[in-house]
Amino acid sequence: MNNLKACPFCGNTDHKSSVSSYMTDASNNGKIIHFLCIKCKAEGPGSPDDFEIAQYNWNKRTDGDSNHCPFCGSSSINIQENKKDKGEAFIYSIFCTDCKAFGPLGFTEEEAKDRWKKRVPSTES
Ligand SMILES: [Zn+2]
Ligand SMILES: [Zn+2]
Repeated sequence: MNNLKACPFCGNTDHKSSVSSYMTDASNNGKIIHFLCIKCKAEGPGSPDDFEIAQYNWNKRTDGDSNHCPFCGSSSINIQENKKDKGEAFIYSIFCTDCKAFGPLGFTEEEAKDRWKKRVPSTES
């Protein structure tokens, strides 16, 4: 049933407790589903509301330059600044503008970039 690959950023394989799907509302396009790594907070590509497609997208890997998106291979990446609940600190993450995947969170832009570039080779388990 659960055939998810390890997180490409942190190598987390504990999918039962650590990777789950969640929904966001994308205005006119209905629900978008992502897989989320609870450990590093990376998110897989945004997918239509279909578990199979979301799983397929999470499991897609492209080898190559670590500046590129590990899921779709796009180099069209950007940094997002998120304000934490209480407003004192910022958290950052790199995201892929093509597949809408997000890298691990960082407390600084540099940390977010470093975590995005850190890649764990995919292993079939
Ligand atoms: Zn992870
Ligand atoms: Zn991508």
